Amino acid sequence: MKVYEKSHKLDHVCYDIRGPIMDEANRMIRGGEDVLKLNIGNPAYFGFKTPDHLVEHMAHSLPTSEGYSDSHGIVSAREAIVEYCQEKGIPNVDMHDVYTGNGVSELITLAMQGLLDDGDEMLVPTPDYPLWTASVTLAGGKAVHYICDDQSGWYPDLEDMRKKVTDKTKGIVVINPNNPTGALYPREILEGIVEIAREHDLILFADEIYDRLVMDGGEHVALASLAPDLMTVSLNGLSKSHLAAGYRCGWMCLAGDKSRAKGYIEGINLLSAMRLCSNVPAQSIIAPALKAREEAKKLCEPGGRVYEQRECIYRLLNDIPGISVVKPSAAFYIFPKMDIKRFNIKDDEIFALDLLKQQKILITHGAGFHWIRPDHFRIVYLPDVDLLSRACERMARFFSRYRQA
Ligand code: PLP
Repeated sequence: MKVYEKSHKLDHVCYDIRGPIMDEANRMIRGGEDVLKLNIGNPAYFGFKTPDHLVEHMAHSLPTSEGYSDSHGIVSAREAIVEYCQEKGIPNVDMHDVYTGNGVSELITLAMQGLLDDGDEMLVPTPDYPLWTASVTLAGGKAVHYICDDQSGWYPDLEDMRKKVTDKTKGIVVINPNNPTGALYPREILEGIVEIAREHDLILFADEIYDRLVMDGGEHVALASLAPDLMTVSLNGLSKSHLAAGYRCGWMCLAGDKSRAKGYIEGINLLSAMRLCSNVPAQSIIAPALKAREEAKKLCEPGGRVYEQRECIYRLLNDIPGISVVKPSAAFYIFPKMDIKRFNIKDDEIFALDLLKQQKILITHGAGFHWIRPDHFRIVYLPDVDLLSRACERMARFFSRYRQA
C-alpha cells in the first residue's frame, strides 16, 4: 500500500507552529484553560491596531483590486519600494527587481526553492527564525548554522561563519534586527559578513522585516547597502512595523550585482508567476505605509508601547534568580538565559512543557530556533505592561521551585 508523506524533510519545520508544546497548549485551550501565549509575534493578538488610514486605504482599493496583478506586484507598491531602497542605500534596485509577496514568509520559501539544489548549503544563524531553516531544508538544501553569540550582544560570530563556508555554500542569511534575540547589528559586523560573502562569492539574504522597529536611537544599516558588488536579496514587509500581519504583505528586492545570477532570477520569475501574484488589496497599502513611518517610530520611543514593554520585561526577568538577559534593542522579542545547572535543565522542550502545564504560559524553547544548548527561551513581549508583569510573577514562582526531573 502507498504511504503518503513527505519524508524527513518536514522534521525541520517550525516548532512554534507544531510539536508537543503546541499540541499540549491546544489541548489546554480546547479544555477551556486560559493560556497566556507569549510565543507568537502577532501584534493584533495583543490589541495593536493597523493604523486607520491604511485600513481605509485598503477598503477604498477593493473595487479596483479584483483582478490578478503583475506577478511582481502593482506599480504604485513597487515604486514605493524602489524609493525605500534608495533611501536605505540599497543599490541597483528597479521595478523589475521587486516582488511583492503574501508576507515575507512566502518569499523566503520562494527564494530558497529558486536557488537550492539537493545538497547545497546555506549559512543560517543560530538562533534563527525557524522558517529559514525549514525553507532551506524543504528546497533540498542543508542549513548550516553559524553562531550568534550572547557573550557579544548576540552578534554573529564571524570566525564561526567563516569556518563553516564550504564549496557547497550558496549564501548567507542575515536576520537584522533579529528574531529571536532582538539584536540590532552594528555596521562593523555587517561589513565583516559582506567580506566573507565577497571572499567566497556568496549571495546575501537580508531579512530586515524589523528595520523600522529600532529603539534607543539605533540606526539600521541595510546589508545590501554595504555590498554593491555582490548580489543581495533583501526582504521586508508590513506585518510588524505597520501591525498588519493578517493582511499578508511583504516584498523582496534583488539588489547589487546580479550579472551572474541570470538563471536564479529566471527561476524566481517563474516561481513568482506560478503563484500568479500576491494579495492585491494588501499591495495597495505598501505605498501609503512606507510614507507613514511615524507610528512605528513612536511605538519604539519612551512612552511608546514596544519601548515600555521592553523596559518592563527586561527589568522583571533580570530580577528572577537564575535568569539573565541581554537587553534587546529592536523588534519585540527577548531571549533570556536560564542557569541550567541551578534548574537542572537538560531538555528545554521539557522545560517549556512544564512551564505551560504549571503556569499556563506558552513560550518557545531555544531549540525551536535551532539554538545549540537547552539554556534559552524566547518571549514575545507584545502583551501590555500589566499582563507582562503578571506573566513575570508567574515565571518567578515557577523558577523559584523548578528543578527538572
Ligand atoms: N522574518 C522574520 C525574521 C520574522 O520574524 C517573521 C515573522 O515573525 C517573518 C519573516 C515573516 O513575516 P510575514 O510573513 O508576516 O511577512
